[in-house]
Amino acid sequence: MTILHSPGRPACDDAGVNQTHSETRRTKIVATVGPASWDPPVLEQMIIAGVDVFRLNFSHGDGPTHVRVIKDIREISERLDLEVGILGDLPGPKLRVGDYPQGVVDIVHGSTVTITPDDVPGTETLIPVDWPELSGSLKVEDTVYLADGSIRLRVIGNDGRVVQCEVEVGGPLSSHKGMNLPGVEAGLDSVSEDDLRWVEFAVANQIDYLAVSFVRKADDLDPVLDKLSELKSDIPIIAKIEKPQAADAVEDIVEKATGGIMVARGDLGIEVPLSKVPVLQKSLIRAAGQAGKTVITATQMLASMVSAKRPTRAEVTDVATAIYDGTDAIMLSEETAVGDYPVEAVKVMDQIARGTETDLPYWDWVLNRVRQDEMDVSDSVTQSAVIAAYRLNLQAIVVPTASGRTAKVVAAHRPQVPVLAVTHSVRTQRQLKLIFGVRPVVNDQTTEIRNLLYECADDAVTYGAAASGDLIAIVAGLSDMQLGTNLFEVHRVP
Ligand code: PEP
Repeated sequence: MTILHSPGRPACDDAGVNQTHSETRRTKIVATVGPASWDPPVLEQMIIAGVDVFRLNFSHGDGPTHVRVIKDIREISERLDLEVGILGDLPGPKLRVGDYPQGVVDIVHGSTVTITPDDVPGTETLIPVDWPELSGSLKVEDTVYLADGSIRLRVIGNDGRVVQCEVEVGGPLSSHKGMNLPGVEAGLDSVSEDDLRWVEFAVANQIDYLAVSFVRKADDLDPVLDKLSELKSDIPIIAKIEKPQAADAVEDIVEKATGGIMVARGDLGIEVPLSKVPVLQKSLIRAAGQAGKTVITATQMLASMVSAKRPTRAEVTDVATAIYDGTDAIMLSEETAVGDYPVEAVKVMDQIARGTETDLPYWDWVLNRVRQDEMDVSDSVTQSAVIAAYRLNLQAIVVPTASGRTAKVVAAHRPQVPVLAVTHSVRTQRQLKLIFGVRPVVNDQTTEIRNLLYECADDAVTYGAAASGDLIAIVAGLSDMQLGTNLFEVHRVP
């Protein structure tokens, strides 16, 4: 297989280990933007190091900050000619601590703290949580987790207004860190007014994906879908699976989540016993694959890199495991949002992905990954094309696509050869940055079918996916038939 670089693209300079660009990597890298990474020079280095999609966490940062980051990302990626997607992550019905104006405080092991519904500044012993049902929902001996589960409290008193707790595991706490109460029904709406304001923000700022937090069942996605349709927007939504109820209902959720799912291991690992997380990760990724939907694996992938320049062996193995499991994308959270080594974390992800991708069960995936429904024309045509890539030694699969749909269906079968998605739409290009194995490029195309096929072959050469004389597949959906993806041609590149 010949994979060349398109001219003028920068390459990583990571001690000679990785001299190729992210375009030849199949697994996609999502990186969360935060104070450690939102300055333009860092964003630029992260894009060069291989970020495919930036995640803006709407639980942190205000609108003007996110607007500035979006503008910077768009400007830098245009200047570098390296398009990236942007995913906005809605806060969801998550209980959060209030403001800690002095920054980070230490919640001390063995001390007694008070959780209060009052809007007061947080301290080492007073933890404000804006939740009127606080005292009605918590009883003595309940467990309360704070800050992604790093702090554990045990309820020892409840006077009907505030709740006293003993600190069983202490740690640092700062503004708006999450609070989890496994097994306690918090009675919050699945999508809040605040979430819906962020949906409007996402539409106004042309964000490429929206992630919906704390989904419990498929219908929890409705308020966001309804809001998007009211705004005449088709931003794909990603359901974050972080509650046991969601894991149980994943098949329905996957069907409804237009953009796929996220295995949100941070909250999931608090809401279910930790030992269940690996099993759930595999079953959730499998469920997304069966439905041909996109899946992101998230949280603590390289957690030690928040403060260390190199990851642990266990973390490297964890990232590789998610890729073996069949994830489309691997995600960095604190590593890039608040860590000391955001660019290095991206480079490490890139190296792990490349190292793992030489050993994936592609052939097994093409036969078994996607559920084979009878009479599904798109799946049948795309699977045939991917199988033909093996039998005929095709060098690439070129997909002319307006919405990106056909490229996603091809990618779901996990071909070993590159999927070059050619689209006229920058928006489609950005969205396809999240999909395993897809290399999206922008090019205006004719609608005349024979010429379109020749143009696709030219594109394969222009973008380095194939060379003159190679056989390639061209896969497309011709709209007049209304059958989805209905065309597959084997084409010799002139
Ligand atoms: C998670 O819990 O793993 C996650 C991605 O959600 P958040 O970072 O928003 O808590």
